[in-house]
Amino acid sequence: MSNSTAPPATADLLAAARQVFVPVYQPRAVVLDHGRGARLWDREGREYVDFAAGIAVCGLGHADPELVAALVAQAGKLWHTSNVFYNQPAIELAQALVDSAPFARRVFLCNSGAEANEAAIKLARRRAAQSGRAPERRTILSFHGSFHGRTLATVTATAQPKYQQGFEPLPSGFRHAPFNDLDAAAAAMADGSVCAVLVEPVQGEGGVMPAAPGFLAGLRALCDRHNALLVCDEIQCGMGRTGTLFAHAQDDVVPDAVTLAKALGAGFPIGALLVGAGAAEVLQHGAHGTTFGGNPLAAAVARVALRRLSDPALLAAVGRRGAELREGLQRIGRDTGAFVHVRGRGLMLGAVLAEAHRGRAGALVDHALAAGLLVLQAGPDVLRLVPPLVLDDADAAAGLARLRVAIDAWQAARGGQHAASPQSERTPESRT
Ligand SMILES: *Cc1c(COP(=O)(O)O)cnc(C)c1O
Repeated sequence: MSNSTAPPATADLLAAARQVFVPVYQPRAVVLDHGRGARLWDREGREYVDFAAGIAVCGLGHADPELVAALVAQAGKLWHTSNVFYNQPAIELAQALVDSAPFARRVFLCNSGAEANEAAIKLARRRAAQSGRAPERRTILSFHGSFHGRTLATVTATAQPKYQQGFEPLPSGFRHAPFNDLDAAAAAMADGSVCAVLVEPVQGEGGVMPAAPGFLAGLRALCDRHNALLVCDEIQCGMGRTGTLFAHAQDDVVPDAVTLAKALGAGFPIGALLVGAGAAEVLQHGAHGTTFGGNPLAAAVARVALRRLSDPALLAAVGRRGAELREGLQRIGRDTGAFVHVRGRGLMLGAVLAEAHRGRAGALVDHALAAGLLVLQAGPDVLRLVPPLVLDDADAAAGLARLRVAIDAWQAARGGQHAASPQSERTPESRT
């Protein structure tokens, strides 16, 4: 890139990006520039409807004035204290989190989802150790199709081999069972060595798969029987995404701990582990920590986001809007034959691709981008919609209309291999 004062050309930025980043991602060839609500614009001035929300992060959309004001006000006061000293936003956020759920007693603040799950795993291990259980009886049980993060421990809890291969040796003390199969979970816990069950109430990366009715309640009973902690990973499905502040509330279970990240900071990086009464005193002074945990900038934004996402009117709108989008997707599915069915809860929706299109979710994401719509995949066979929770009638209608345009082009590309050749026709599975 040149050092002139003229802004760099987008093509030059993209060329630089391909040189300088460790190529673990394969971003689409656009450089996003600014946003407002559920719309985004790239550097060329092209407008997009956002059904991706930065992977279920921007629950309140982009450039929300109250969030911007909270960040700017804090930015002029204090950026960082470390946990050697207190700061007011962190205390107020932790108090609001404890007040937000009947089960919650204490909070550990961190910076990401993986870090929140690491804290939960360490909590469960330490609790088992304190009750005299030998190391080989401190196993964490998680489920096929789950996603819990990319650190070595959380990637081991993530029961999808594609995330683990080539990183061996993986930490020991993890075990996997099929999702939504209580008998299998009971069998996996029968030897009494499981100290915690880690479960997403709605699996995200694994294909937008809700827990079946009774599954979480059954896990609760198994955890009670075997003195194990029930830890709900609500990093993707929490913070109002499914129409209640916490997703597990819809399953009528009381977890021992919940992990949050993604939408907690509405786009500012933050994670949290919420711990219930049964385990709130397990981690004592010196047992765990992280330099940036409780960062005042993150906490100042998150406490506003939490208040806004707890609003019953917003949560009711998520339910209505989710039903409307689901119907829209089902209609498109009927008209085009693209989907076999639509699943999910609230504004966390997955459209399962028809047999003829298996493996082509990435290509559909490309065609959507070309049609002015940001959308995600969840594996190669599921189109995932996780829009800002604040999207309005015009956003929803425009998004669905653009999706229809994209599907027509995507199906045409299938017919003649020479039609539009989006990058993911070559790489059907792009990973988060
Ligand atoms: C994204 C995600 C994580 C990991 O969060 P990071 O912030 O990327 O570390 C963990 N669990 C679930 C369910 C997620 O969706």
